[in-house]
Amino acid sequence: MTAEHLLRITDLHATVARHEILRGVDLEVRTGEVHALMGPNGSGKSTLSHALMGSGEYEVTRGSVSIDGEELLGLPTWQRAQRGLFLAMQYPVEVPGVPLEEVVGAALDARGASRADLHDRIVAEARTLGVPDELLGRGVNTEFSGGEKKRAETVQLAVLEPKFAVLDEIDSGLDVDALRDVARRVYALARERQVGVLAITHYARLLAELRPDRVHVFLAGRIVKSGGPELADELERTGYEGIAAELGIDELTVVQPLPDADPFGDPTIGSNPFADPLA
Ligand code: ADP
Ligand code: MG
Repeated sequence: MTAEHLLRITDLHATVARHEILRGVDLEVRTGEVHALMGPNGSGKSTLSHALMGSGEYEVTRGSVSIDGEELLGLPTWQRAQRGLFLAMQYPVEVPGVPLEEVVGAALDARGASRADLHDRIVAEARTLGVPDELLGRGVNTEFSGGEKKRAETVQLAVLEPKFAVLDEIDSGLDVDALRDVARRVYALARERQVGVLAITHYARLLAELRPDRVHVFLAGRIVKSGGPELADELERTGYEGIAAELGIDELTVVQPLPDADPFGDPTIGSNPFADPLA
């Protein structure tokens, strides 16, 4: 049994392009626990994942993110990874010419961990997760389908065994069988390898296999309600609007206000350039 670790997010505020997206996020995740964070498109979920990892576009204006009391804000992304944080991005980056084994190997080196058996472990995880050997020879995520990227991210997660994994819509683009494979693997990593999981999603269907300990509803840049797995069932019945109405909240998203449309102007100007194309 490994020692327990604590990821603590306190009053986290962040802005993007001078617009406040995160509006006071509070959350604690312990190793071995599975948390689901559920919110509608445009509520700021991906912004939270990027702010945790330290992506430059997202400016944290207030609050704290720590592991075992050590502040992570201010550290570059690679040092946050070194401290045990892993992010599977909603839209994974393609890295032409650098295969998955090299990416994972570099991450292990940075952590001072051994590369022993790395190749065999990757091949074994790839089999479990249905990633064809051929993809392992390519640059990571390069010309992978949406579903292949999500499986490949899960291979990285499984081999790296971070303290904490933030999975941003790991379910998007997966068919039912792939969803089950990925969710089961993540669940096993939490239960058997004590990874602390923060799974971000807007679909309840991921949760059937992921079996979260805690479910959090995320509206307009903050967690407005937390509970056990039954909260996901409530959400299925009432929708995000139902929870918002129950709590007397009128804003669900943090989408930038648009300038008033000029009826004689360019018809594309009124559209939201950041709207999620998969929404
Ligand atoms: P979610 O993941 O819940 O769909 P996001 O965090 O992706 O929400 O986006 C929330 C809002 O934050 C968007 O509607 C947009 O206004 C803003 N936003 C997010 N990322 C960026 C970015 N890179 N540049 C400018 N605005 C952004
Ligand atoms: Mg998102």
